[in-house]
Amino acid sequence: MLVAGKKCHQRKNTNSFLKVKHLFFANTSNGQLEIKKSMHNKKTAAYRDVIIVGAGHSGLSVSYFLKQKQVEHIVFERGETGNSWATQRWDSFALNTPTCMNILPGDKYEGDCADGFMHRDEFVTYLKQYADKFQLPVLNNTNVFSVQKNQDENVFEVSTESENEKSDWICKQVVIASGIMSEAKMSPLHQSVPGDIFQIHAADFRNQGQLPAGAVLVVGGGQSGCQIAEGLLTEGRKVYLATSKVGRYPRRYRGRDILDWAVDMKFFDVLKEEIKDPAILTAPNPHISGIGRLGHTLSLQSLFKQGAIILGRLDKVNGYEMTFKADAAENVRHADQFSAWFKKLVDKYIDKNQLSAAPPYVEPADQPDIEAVCASAITALNLRTHQIGSVIWTTGYTADFSWISPSVTDETGMPVHNKGVSAVSGLYFIGFPWLVSRKSGIVYGMPDDAGHIANLITDSL
Ligand SMILES: Cc1cc2nc3c(=O)[nH]c(=O)nc-3n(C[C@H](O)[C@H](O)[C@H](O)COP(=O)(O)OP(=O)(O)OC[C@H]3O[C@@H](n4cnc5c(N)ncnc54)[C@H](O)[C@@H]3O)c2cc1C
Repeated sequence: MLVAGKKCHQRKNTNSFLKVKHLFFANTSNGQLEIKKSMHNKKTAAYRDVIIVGAGHSGLSVSYFLKQKQVEHIVFERGETGNSWATQRWDSFALNTPTCMNILPGDKYEGDCADGFMHRDEFVTYLKQYADKFQLPVLNNTNVFSVQKNQDENVFEVSTESENEKSDWICKQVVIASGIMSEAKMSPLHQSVPGDIFQIHAADFRNQGQLPAGAVLVVGGGQSGCQIAEGLLTEGRKVYLATSKVGRYPRRYRGRDILDWAVDMKFFDVLKEEIKDPAILTAPNPHISGIGRLGHTLSLQSLFKQGAIILGRLDKVNGYEMTFKADAAENVRHADQFSAWFKKLVDKYIDKNQLSAAPPYVEPADQPDIEAVCASAITALNLRTHQIGSVIWTTGYTADFSWISPSVTDETGMPVHNKGVSAVSGLYFIGFPWLVSRKSGIVYGMPDDAGHIANLITDSL
């Protein structure tokens, strides 16, 4: 469909030449839309009703729904489909959501391991197969470097670059599915670490072969930090872990995977507007691991038992001298309390619904460490003295949206939106934690969120 503002919503004769203020649109013989900004400044752009930026699971899910609704669209991916999963996860990475929770819209799981956990590469393969199966129009290796709303014509001008070529596109609506965790977020403290200490962010970490000999300091006690720390311990490394306040899910409880209970209890369906405590909206994901046939519980005390030194939050870096807050014990207790709270939710749910379930049983890794014995008293350490040769920063992820104009971000650079709808008409976001509900930040939330965005798009086309 050829669209250039409200004046031409209907399909035009292929030879039509539309003049809208200073912008001219015409269909050329090869189906491209020709834009002439003036007789001397001529460029050609292809047209789609909708452009989706990013072929992660969010972009693919929206594409699936648009395809079902026969909306003409294209998905641009700067790498290959599933790029963030393929390029920003370490080699031993496995999803911590069971496979049955990672199935994209319209698809069903055919294997015999729905309660297992996909390895990084399996999930990337799944995303690629999904795009092929539903013949989604993904253009790989094409980076979108500019999305500009042309307010006069009520269209978006989108510029892309691939290996040797820049291209211009026009569309009526844009879905930004480029990920909110697609860039490494480094702590500024890394600048004070001496040059002979090897430093790497979790997004670039692949395996311990990248690291020089010696002990490793992992900074950041979230899911990534604990999972990477455990992998290093398994491979025989000495690990120091600077922790933070993060909850913990026991992997299994009352005979089932904890996330199965969460799904049944509709824990993930809680809407953003139902949350009274804003701290919940920014709380990190609880510790848990998908390594092993049925995954396993991952706790600070289990890491301690494997040999990790559990430190408090990294506070200051002065050359080789590092100072930590004295909050390691508090962080251990916080994780224990979260686990106890969640198990109580499950117990109540079982009682209320008179379900038959295995009796409560606490796995060894989930046993609360009431005295916080696993928490180290160390608040200062010298990297040289402790033979620490590398620091892995598992300090989170962020994203850059500076290529969107007009700007739709707040002072922190994060997009302002309401359930994925930005203040710029026709510009949507997807793939953010709490976009609509608790599940919006994980693959499990995609069928609902992508369906919601696709409906908004088709309603306004
Ligand atoms: C370490 C880690 C572990 C996780 N584990 C799980 C888990 O076990 N289960 C779960 O459900 N969720 C998990 N998540 C959350 C999940 O990965 C995020 O919800 C997800 O990254 C969001 O998906 P997305 O498709 O929105 O973004 P992404 O997967 O980041 O996809 C965005 C895509 O856009 C592309 N892109 C970016 N900018 C451009 C551009 N300018 N032009 C073209 N293409 C562009 C990127 O290359 C990428 O392919 C995890 C997240 C992290 C960081």
